Amino acid sequence: GNVRADGGRTMGLREYVRKRDFTLTPEPSGLGKKKSRAGSKLSYVIQKHAASRLHYDFRLELDGVLLSWAVPKGPSLDPSDKRLAVHVEDHPLDYGGFEGTIPQGQYGGGSVIVWDRGTWEPEKDPREGMRRGKLEFTLHGKKLQGSWALVRLHGKPGDEKNWLLFKRTDEYARVGYDITEERPESAKTG
Ligand code: MN
Repeated sequence: GNVRADGGRTMGLREYVRKRDFTLTPEPSGLGKKKSRAGSKLSYVIQKHAASRLHYDFRLELDGVLLSWAVPKGPSLDPSDKRLAVHVEDHPLDYGGFEGTIPQGQYGGGSVIVWDRGTWEPEKDPREGMRRGKLEFTLHGKKLQGSWALVRLHGKPGDEKNWLLFKRTDEYARVGYDITEERPESAKTG
């Protein structure tokens, strides 16, 4: 089954399921058969979510789920432009292909498109990174490439959900270019 003795590295899908009524939302229930395959590349996706407030959901596959952060302003290619990324509940792997409309009144009501997708490669042990609050990784997406980081902010207890997402300096960094403005289209359906 989907039970993992993972020592709390990922949250599992209980919170994801608790928040949603799958008789009302078209989102995947997480009960599908899609699992990480040994030796396969780890998936990466950003979904643009026009909920009550537009945001970008940044997701990285790890241990059979999608680790997820809500990024209100979306990613920036400028390394000095660090974007708030609020750590939210793990999502099922098949969520990464979801585009559609969540009905108003349901959790996250509004439209979802796949804004970018591809694979990611952690530079170090990502489970240790999640515990320590620092992930450094390479993205191989249609829109985002190269080296990126997610770093947890030091806040009061209870504030641990706030991270920063930012581009690290390399040949894919770009200043003075707003990728969310210039590339608004779906990476799945164009
Ligand atoms: Mn969202």
